[in-house]
Amino acid sequence: MSLSEHQKISDDWIKKFTGGYFKPHEILARLMEEVGKLAREINHKFGPKKKKSSEKKNEIGDEIADIIFTLLCLANSLNIDLDKSFTKMIKKINTRDKNRYKQSSS
Ligand SMILES: [Mg+2]
Repeated sequence: MSLSEHQKISDDWIKKFTGGYFKPHEILARLMEEVGKLAREINHKFGPKKKKSSEKKNEIGDEIADIIFTLLCLANSLNIDLDKSFTKMIKKINTRDKNRYKQSSS
């Protein structure tokens, strides 16, 4: 599924409710919350700080999906086509950053 298809699904979901999208800075604050939750999971899995037995175990993939959904909402609220933006970014890393890292032999 393309990013724009995910944008459409997210937009259809948001449109079910009154009020529509949060303001950009409100979505950004929500994004920071979600990034914090991802950091917490990463820290618990790979760092020294283990979870309390009473704490819910969350999947890292689920936290990443929450972040992506929040970004889809931010893009939708600003009428940004993420397929276009993503294609542009891939072009950039394939040109500007082409020789930045050691190539794999395969
Ligand atoms: Mg989350």
